[in-house]
Amino acid sequence: MAELAPYAVSEARSKGRRHPEPTPAARSEFQRDRDRVVHSTAFRRLEYKTQVFVNHEGDLFRTRLTHSIEVAQIARTLARAMQLNEDLAEAIALAHDLGHTPFGHAGQDALNACMREHGGFEHNLQSLRTVDLLEERYGAFDGLNLTYETREGILKHCAPKKAYELGELGRRFIEGTQPSLEAQLCNLADEIGYNNHDVDDGLRSGLITLEQLEEVGIWVRHVTEVRRAFPQVGGRRLIHETVRRMINSLAVDLIEETRSNISEVGVASIEDVRKTSPLAAFSAGMHAEHKELKHFLRINLYQHYQVLRMTNKARRIISDLFGAFMEDPRLLPPQYQQMAKADKPRAIADYVAGMTDRYAIREHRRLFAVGEI
Ligand code: MG
Repeated sequence: MAELAPYAVSEARSKGRRHPEPTPAARSEFQRDRDRVVHSTAFRRLEYKTQVFVNHEGDLFRTRLTHSIEVAQIARTLARAMQLNEDLAEAIALAHDLGHTPFGHAGQDALNACMREHGGFEHNLQSLRTVDLLEERYGAFDGLNLTYETREGILKHCAPKKAYELGELGRRFIEGTQPSLEAQLCNLADEIGYNNHDVDDGLRSGLITLEQLEEVGIWVRHVTEVRRAFPQVGGRRLIHETVRRMINSLAVDLIEETRSNISEVGVASIEDVRKTSPLAAFSAGMHAEHKELKHFLRINLYQHYQVLRMTNKARRIISDLFGAFMEDPRLLPPQYQQMAKADKPRAIADYVAGMTDRYAIREHRRLFAVGEI
């Protein structure tokens, strides 16, 4: 790895792991974190969890797995360009969605509603819970025992009440300090990732059209450039040439604006990063364009009636499953029955959140379909 900037997270000054372990022989501590994430059960399940489209709707749509890989690619580019810790950025990005429920945000909202009286459910906190507690891979501890810095990056947001329970990791939500630049950039890499791939998937599915996108500034700017450069090109090539330009322009803008924030504030160390306001940001113009695209997707894709039909069904599946297990926890697999003895709703939420889309559909059928055993 090239030399790190003075404000990057360095392995030598890491706050370490909750359970001390010998230094890895051939990898950095953050490479080890990344490797543990990639080998985890929760990571493999991402392949069958929805981003926007339910998994079986088509083979070419993004899933949480391909989304996470795209986010990691963008985050690594950002980190390397800014001499930040690329291994850490990659580990955070690959882990950032591990706690997602089946059926995307509809699933998360439904599970949160089920858990309202029991401490709530939040996918971001669940990602942390997955790497801290739920993965069963090591003899000496629960979870993956990741470094403080990777865990800090996974926990993007947190309500103050929960923050108190999390000790040092939660302190920044109470004190209003910031995480590392690597974590801040991963957060924006996530947005760059999904905004752009949702345009691509939205067009592929036919739920949004090229004509509709003519009202979106960032699209128009880049599609005009593509049409000028390749007047004979249309269809998929036109879309991909435009989307790749959008991703690139967002990443380059983010790097430039963040660099200028760093020099303006005079940031010289990771301590400076933590105590100043967020440094990773788009320029004002790009921020506005990015927001406009986000708004467009919300109205035209995420609230499209065909998507809403799917999310409505997903909501029902999640709340049916939760209700059935609450009523009779003996229906849970033995491992979760055991966990339910300590905290029934939380054990059920862990079980339901861990399900893939198709597993949840199958489980629903097993529990509710008359004539099915
Ligand atoms: Mg994400």
